[in-house]
Amino acid sequence: MIAHSLQEGAIVLDPFSVRLVLGLVTLTLIVISCVSSQRRRSPYAEWWRVALCLFFVGNAAFLLNDTASQLWANPVGKALVVAGTFCLWAGARTLRNRRASPWLLVPAPVLSGLASALDDPGTSVWSGGLVYLGLTTLGIALAATELWFAKPVRSRITRFLALIAWLTALYYLFRAIIFVVDGPNSDVFRTFFGYAPAALMHLVLLVAVSSTMNTLSNKQLIKRLRERAERDHLTGLLNRGAFLDLAARSLDRASSDRGAALILADLDNFKAVNDEHGHSAGDSALRAFAEACNSSVRSTDLVGRYGGEEFILLLPGATQQRAEAIASEISSRLSAMSSPDGLPFPTVSYGVTSTGPDVPDLAFMINVADAALYSAKAQGRNRVVGAEPAEREAATEHRMP
Ligand code: GH3
Ligand code: MG
Ligand code: MG
Repeated sequence: MIAHSLQEGAIVLDPFSVRLVLGLVTLTLIVISCVSSQRRRSPYAEWWRVALCLFFVGNAAFLLNDTASQLWANPVGKALVVAGTFCLWAGARTLRNRRASPWLLVPAPVLSGLASALDDPGTSVWSGGLVYLGLTTLGIALAATELWFAKPVRSRITRFLALIAWLTALYYLFRAIIFVVDGPNSDVFRTFFGYAPAALMHLVLLVAVSSTMNTLSNKQLIKRLRERAERDHLTGLLNRGAFLDLAARSLDRASSDRGAALILADLDNFKAVNDEHGHSAGDSALRAFAEACNSSVRSTDLVGRYGGEEFILLLPGATQQRAEAIASEISSRLSAMSSPDGLPFPTVSYGVTSTGPDVPDLAFMINVADAALYSAKAQGRNRVVGAEPAEREAATEHRMP
């Protein structure tokens, strides 16, 4: 399939055949990525498809080398292949939840195309060669670095991909060095770093990325879906189920260490807000309260929407006193915030409890805080009530055996 000949002792792969194979494989991968399209693609898959298309058209342009069209096709091919490698980088960045501005992707391909166009591309297939090789190395090395640190979906697969990308980047770096030291017509360059061997290396990279892409984009989608499933749509806080899961685990760790405090909060006369000012005014108040909670707690604390206009917070390491102070701070923040229609936000009642030797689990703490919250409502609302021994007893009585 791939013709080779012996020229002055060096094995030289036939560039045209190798390019043809590369083109066919790329086209097949593009078709597979289109046919197997999920309704919601991961950003990584999207960037990869763009990269594939750029590699395909870029390499197709190189097929016009040694024809009259080489004058424009060679610079265009180089610009597109460089653009493809920077799309690999952009895709790898999405695995770290980072964006790549399209403007970051434009300069390198333009530079590569210009360097080639200004360097006699009509007669030399290696016009602007050093800039092309340097930028390709840079694009792949950047992608490899992002993949290596792809935290959210760090796995053996991303590490493996990063390794392949590093090897490819290293290959392109040596290619650039030999290009400068020995020149593109030397035996060493033609044997190991010419168009054909480089296309083979490219092929390895394409197959490695494509075959791991499904796993990676599925992981990315699952992560997003899990985030959605754990969050309350209106406030962005943890929903009840996710809060209870995380809080039980956090409490296990906290009780053996430094203890924890739990706050139940309930917006006062909230039904009246809806009735008098409409449901959207009620929604704004819920969102504002969530914001006030988030800005009053530490990143290690858990904040959840327990139901309707009830919220729940677990503060690992916090004392009863500290938790009561935080509840007051949340109310101060809420009253200092302005609502979209200028109406004051409702006041809030809180029931607060904390771990002690007699408080073994989350359900029990919630019951105690609920009893304290009930007292806060009974005492006239808009206040923080810490659980008294009476509330603990009441909760113990209601405790399931
Ligand atoms: P209390 O001070 O005793 O807690 O009185 P309340 O009016 O706050 O309590 P009640 O349980 O009577 O009313 C809760 C209201 O919360 C009723 C319900 O329509 C409203 N609500 C629950 N979820 C949402 C929501 O997502 N958006 C809006 N706008 N209202 C909600
Ligand atoms: Mg309520
Ligand atoms: Mg209420």
